[in-house]
Amino acid sequence: MLLVTWVTWTQHIKNVKGECMKSMNILRTLSHHHWGCDEEILLRIYRSVIRSKLEYGNILYSTSCRTNMNLLNTVPNTAFRIILGAFRSSPSESLHVEAQEMPLNLRRQKTLLSYALKVFAMPNHPAHDPMKTSKYPTTIKPMTLLSIPQMVQQHSESINLNSLVPMFYSKHAPWSRHQPMLNTVLHRYNKQETHGAILKQHFLELKTKEKFDEEFYTDASKDEHGVACSIVNEHNNTVSYKLPPTSSIHTGELFAIYKSLFSTMTPGQHIAIFTDSLSSIQSISNIYSNNPLIQKIQERCHIVKTNKNISTTIIWIPSHVGIEGNEVADQSAKLALSSDLPITNFQLHSDLKATIKLKSLRDWQTKWNSSNNKLHAIQPEIDSPLKISLNRKDKIVIRRLRIAHTRLTHGYLMSSEEHPICEYCRETRLTVEHLLSRCPHYDEIRRRMGLKENLKDNLNSATQIEATLKFLKECQLYNHI
Ligand SMILES: [Zn+2]
Repeated sequence: MLLVTWVTWTQHIKNVKGECMKSMNILRTLSHHHWGCDEEILLRIYRSVIRSKLEYGNILYSTSCRTNMNLLNTVPNTAFRIILGAFRSSPSESLHVEAQEMPLNLRRQKTLLSYALKVFAMPNHPAHDPMKTSKYPTTIKPMTLLSIPQMVQQHSESINLNSLVPMFYSKHAPWSRHQPMLNTVLHRYNKQETHGAILKQHFLELKTKEKFDEEFYTDASKDEHGVACSIVNEHNNTVSYKLPPTSSIHTGELFAIYKSLFSTMTPGQHIAIFTDSLSSIQSISNIYSNNPLIQKIQERCHIVKTNKNISTTIIWIPSHVGIEGNEVADQSAKLALSSDLPITNFQLHSDLKATIKLKSLRDWQTKWNSSNNKLHAIQPEIDSPLKISLNRKDKIVIRRLRIAHTRLTHGYLMSSEEHPICEYCRETRLTVEHLLSRCPHYDEIRRRMGLKENLKDNLNSATQIEATLKFLKECQLYNHI
């Protein structure tokens, strides 16, 4: 009997909820409507004390049934109501948007996909094979419980987990490898204050001094369709690559450096790779980096040094100052973006992580767009939150007006009464919009306080919010919100 209870996670989820509700008392103590803490501090307490408990091990218990998962969804709703001082009837979606906290199910989906990324990138991980070989059912009944691999497949339709570059494990200890030489001496000249011709002169001096046997110029480019990179040698021979659209420009720059290490080289040579990406050089300088591409660059430099006595120097050069190799690499990378080059199957774990974050935000936005809450008209984009410095009481009043659930308009729900009607306009329901924009009784005060006709304008900008608060005080409605 006990086993069955644990397999369904019911008892565990009830315990988690109980623990979270106990911690809720911290928020209750600190959230007084007049002298309470600021929302930002209360939100930090929520994230560190309550959310951390809610989400511990959530990948495992996400296989539980919907009824159990719904038990947990009430925890953030209660917390946000306390933090924002929102009215009790406020809709859950609006509370999440006002608190700028992603709904729990989307956060779980994000954690699950990030975990799957890690597993897919580690072929030795015990969960790797079950995760890859598990079959997603062709037909799913609404209440079917999915396994963890099936849930990963369900949420990762737009993400290609199979092209992931596996984690790289070198046979050589990082400190025992021959590292590439890194030269950023040209970076000490301020590009804004130094003329391009002088920078080019310094570059030519450096080349003459070092006497390289082979020179490669690398560059990458990114637009809305994807990422491409190019390698140019001193005879202007060019090779270009196109990377998956989810790659970052940083990956493009590093990939070009990596590929230039596979060019034809004679033993004993000293080769130079010129790049205008300072961040790439800084990343390569970290010998303990866990980025597989950086590790591969370091390993390749070690191998060519050990086997062929080829020394590698990676040099930073300023872009767009007329250095020919750099200009050619830049142009080729841009051309490659719109070319029909096949996309190289090279997807970094860290780049996909950013894609997963974006996907979760997009899913949240889609969910928000399909809701018909009043707040949506005021804040249609989830990532444009209200940023205003007000005292606790004023902020609570503004939050309640934005959510459009106030004591004046929705208090009837708590006492099972009829929806209130405006005492000045017969048969007109009392709503936030009616009070702030429509009711003719307040027309004169509204004009005097500088309120605008549109509710969205009055509840978004700092000056209009100030006017709204003055209006409420003048109409003696402030304490009834
Ligand atoms: Zn009225």
